[in-house]
Amino acid sequence: MAIKQTLQQWNAEDSAELYGIRNWGAGYFGVSSKGDVVIYPTGVPTDKAVSIPDIIRGMRERGYDMPALVRIENILESQIRTLHESFRKAIRELGYHGEYRGVFPIKVNQQQNTVEKIVQFGAKYHHGLEVGSKAELISAISQLSDEHACLICNGYKDEEFIDIGLSAVRMGYKCFFVLEMPGELELIMERAKALNVRPILGVRVKLITKGSGHWAGSGGERSAFGLTSAQVMDVVDYLKQNDALDCLRLLHYHLGSQIPNIRDIRSAVMEAARIYAGLVQEGASMGYLDLGGGLAVDYDGSHTNYVSSRNYSIDEYCMDVVEAVMTILDERQIPHPHIITESGRSTVAYYSILLFNILDVSEVEFGDAVPDTPPEDAPEPIRNLWDAYNNLNVRNLQECYNDAVYYRDDMRQRFVTGQVTLRQRTVADKYFWAIIRRIAEEKAKLKHVPKDLEEIDAFLADIYYGNFSVFQSLPDAWAIDQLFPVMPVHRLAEFPSRHAVLSDITCDSDGRLDHFISPQGIKKTLELHPVTDGEEYYLGVFLVGAYQETLGDLHNLLGDTNVVAIRINEDGNYDFVREIRGDTVADILDYVEYDPRTILDDLRSAAERAVRAKRITPTERYNIMQVFEDGLRGYTYFER
Ligand SMILES: *Cc1c(COP(=O)(O)O)cnc(C)c1O
Repeated sequence: MAIKQTLQQWNAEDSAELYGIRNWGAGYFGVSSKGDVVIYPTGVPTDKAVSIPDIIRGMRERGYDMPALVRIENILESQIRTLHESFRKAIRELGYHGEYRGVFPIKVNQQQNTVEKIVQFGAKYHHGLEVGSKAELISAISQLSDEHACLICNGYKDEEFIDIGLSAVRMGYKCFFVLEMPGELELIMERAKALNVRPILGVRVKLITKGSGHWAGSGGERSAFGLTSAQVMDVVDYLKQNDALDCLRLLHYHLGSQIPNIRDIRSAVMEAARIYAGLVQEGASMGYLDLGGGLAVDYDGSHTNYVSSRNYSIDEYCMDVVEAVMTILDERQIPHPHIITESGRSTVAYYSILLFNILDVSEVEFGDAVPDTPPEDAPEPIRNLWDAYNNLNVRNLQECYNDAVYYRDDMRQRFVTGQVTLRQRTVADKYFWAIIRRIAEEKAKLKHVPKDLEEIDAFLADIYYGNFSVFQSLPDAWAIDQLFPVMPVHRLAEFPSRHAVLSDITCDSDGRLDHFISPQGIKKTLELHPVTDGEEYYLGVFLVGAYQETLGDLHNLLGDTNVVAIRINEDGNYDFVREIRGDTVADILDYVEYDPRTILDDLRSAAERAVRAKRITPTERYNIMQVFEDGLRGYTYFER
């Protein structure tokens, strides 16, 4: 990439390219000529874009501090629309006879506000919900009212779960019980008889086809859930004997989440369609084929079959799926089923953005200029470092780098064994950093930078301390090294002259972001702007709407962030439609079994003891108690 090194030449367009925003943004995000990240509510660039710095200002004015999660409702609506319109188009173009029915798997983002909006935006498409537990089922029944929408019950079911689901069927919900384990069937039939309800049944099958990717383990023959084909046959036989084969309406599988390769998706659909055909031939009523989740998000924008990407568009996904089902079923002249997918990640990922401010920056200390000649008494490694420093040129960078590391380590070793003084060690460190800095300058002139030298950037990287917790807000970045797009949300018309890694405020060495997406692959540092005194610098982590919000934990007792939901209107104005305050310190202590009232009592007694010991006056005690009480009511993150 041709790098424009100076402030004068750099513009917002260069930033858009550098951070790859058009590659991963799916049309929802762009950079304004002023240098702000802007949101295009329908995924199409318009001049009605809303700027993120403007949203931040609005939040600040309303008393919401960073970090904050911003949910853009329009994007959620647009993703649901895109999925349905793409399926409709494929169905129309291919002449498919069944319909498409989407369901949202609640586990991907269980927040009430999210589920409520999905039900609202999906209403005109009869978009339903998928649940895997009693709590999710109850929340789904409370939110859904459309009798044409599907309510799919996966997961292990006990009697209570079954009774709740059967009651929903009674009330007119299209509530499917998907058999995950052979043992569930008898209990369901028994309860159905007792409650006098005809159950709507599905079977989850284990496919031979396996996807690749982070989560592929949930598909395949050895997956924990689902029936083998022998067990499916047992289900059919049992239902036949009990005169209930008409209850079997659906076949389900789930290959795993984030399937990057369309070929895996196709193979799975074809295998499932064959099983579906077999069940119809056995006499089951059927009518629904449920392909589970797996529709991936292109987090790195590379459009490849790499784990954080996908090598297909939503349109291609829909065409391939519909076509594959059709091909297999037409061979056997079996009526086309309604197709259900349980897309979670792709539905919600785009709509949430994590915003945070930078609290501090630590730069590599180059220290003062190095001594022209080594001191008289300098030990050999220092002389060698000095030689390396003086002989450095563009042709021997690798050699100098190796020498620098070797003699620096040698000096450290001598220091720990007491052979050199602290001052001598410091001289060696100065030469070392001087060499590293020269290498960094010289290597910019090279066409092909040796692998080792690429590491130097990470070595020299600044650490930007962000006001957020990786564990709370980006759990997958910590647990499975998932990549999310990260970039400044303003100042993009300025040249980002610093190379940085990000650290959160947990002070945990794992609380870092040190791998970043780039149009050239993965990079170990992120280009950022120097932080100016007295001015906030804001970064955004994008595409965090799926799985991140509730998987997070309370590491260091940092709690939920503030959340605001935003609705962008047609005229380009926007409203704060929902605000949810993040956890207070008292909320968090409550989660870990403290009673905030008891804490206050304990603090009061502690302060009273200090009064008795005459360390503080009663008036000081009063002021100190105010400080504690404010602290308990405060936000768990850094407040300015
Ligand atoms: C997790 C899960 C999903 C969601 O998958 P995505 O890849 O996020 O769309 C769908 N169905 C089942 C059964 C799941 O367990």
